[in-house]
Amino acid sequence: TLILAIETSCDETAASIIRNGTEIVSNVVSSQIDSQSRFGGVVPEIASRHHVEKITLVIEKALKDANLEPKELSAVAVTEGPGLVGALLIGINAAKAFAFAHGLPVVGVHHIAGHIYANALVQKMDFPLLALVVSGGHTELVLMKEHGHFEVIGETRDDAAGEAYDKVARVLNLPYPGGPHIDRLAHQASVGVEFPRAWLDDSYDFSFSGLKSAVINYKHNMDQRGEEIVPEKVAKGFQDSVVEVLTTKTVGAARKYQVKQVIAAGGVSANKGLRTSLEQAFEKEGIPFYVPPLNLCTDNAAMIGAAGSFMYNVGVRGNLSMNGNPGMELKSWSK
Ligand code: ATP
Ligand code: MG
Ligand code: FE
Repeated sequence: TLILAIETSCDETAASIIRNGTEIVSNVVSSQIDSQSRFGGVVPEIASRHHVEKITLVIEKALKDANLEPKELSAVAVTEGPGLVGALLIGINAAKAFAFAHGLPVVGVHHIAGHIYANALVQKMDFPLLALVVSGGHTELVLMKEHGHFEVIGETRDDAAGEAYDKVARVLNLPYPGGPHIDRLAHQASVGVEFPRAWLDDSYDFSFSGLKSAVINYKHNMDQRGEEIVPEKVAKGFQDSVVEVLTTKTVGAARKYQVKQVIAAGGVSANKGLRTSLEQAFEKEGIPFYVPPLNLCTDNAAMIGAAGSFMYNVGVRGNLSMNGNPGMELKSWSK
C-alpha cells in the first residue's frame, strides 16, 4: 500500500508518502516556528493562514520527492483531531479534495495514534506495548494489547509536559518552543535547583502545574532578594524533576502490565535527558525500549501515514463528510 498522509493539527504543515505502513518514501514538513516564535506561542489565526499558503506546495513536494503519480496511491490519511479546529480543517479539506479528484478513500487519523505509530517507521511494534506519550498537549501512558488497541492508563491532571517546558522557558526568557532550549541549558549545569516531584500516590497520572509554579516562585523570590538566577541550574532542576517522574511511572506501569516493549512518542520524547533516562532504566529492567529519531518525535505527516496505513489495512475508512474534531478522543480502531 502507498498512502499519502497530511498533518496540519497545529503549526506544522506536513505531507508524506508511506509504503506498507513502515517505509518513508517522502516526508515534507513546513514549520511556522519562525513566524510563531515572535508571539511566544501558536496563534491559531496565523497557523491557519500559514497552512492555507503551504498545503498545496507541501503535498506536491511529497509526491514529487516520491516520484509518484496520484493514481499509484491506495488512500489519503489525514489528522482528524485533536488540534486547532481551523488548522485541522485545512488539512482535512485538502485531503478530501485530493481523494475526490483521484477516486481514493480517506482515513481520519488521531494525532496521538500518529505520534505512537512514528515508532512503526523504525522498528516492529511488539505487544503488549506501553507507550509514553509526551507532547505539547498530551502526557499519557497508553497500553496497547495489539495494533489499533489503545487504553489510557494514566494522564496529566493539568499541564502537559511540553506545555510545562514552554511555560518555564518563558520564565527564563527563552524562545518558543522552549523544550530544546531548556534541554540544552540543563546539560550545562552539574547541579540543579531543587524542585518538587508530583508523585500522586501510586497512580499513573501526572501533574506539572505545581512544578511550574515552583519555578515561577523561585524566580520571583530571587528577584525580590535582588539575586540573579542561574538559568542553567533552573533548567536542570526542572528537567530532573520532569524526567524522574516520567521515568519512574513508566517503569512502574511496564512492570505491572508485563509489557514486551516500551516506546516513547511526541515532541518531548526528543528530549535528550528523557531519552537517556528511559534507555538506562529499561536496559536495567531488561525490557526493549524504543524512541523515534528527533524529526519523527515532533509533528510530521509520516507518523500519520504509518497509523493510517495500519488502519487502512484493517478496513477503516472515513468519508467525504469528515470534519475537524478538535477534542477527538483516542479510541481503539473499528471498521
Ligand atoms: P500534541 O501532539 O499533544 O497535539 P503538539 O503537536 O503541539 O501537541 P508536539 O509537536 O508533539 O506537540 O511537541 C511539541 C512540544 O515538544 C513543545 O512543547 C516543545 O517544547 C516540546 N519539545 C520539543 N523538543 C523538545 C526537547 N528537546 N525537550 C523538551 N521538550 C521538547
Ligand atoms: Mg508543533
Ligand atoms: Fe503533536
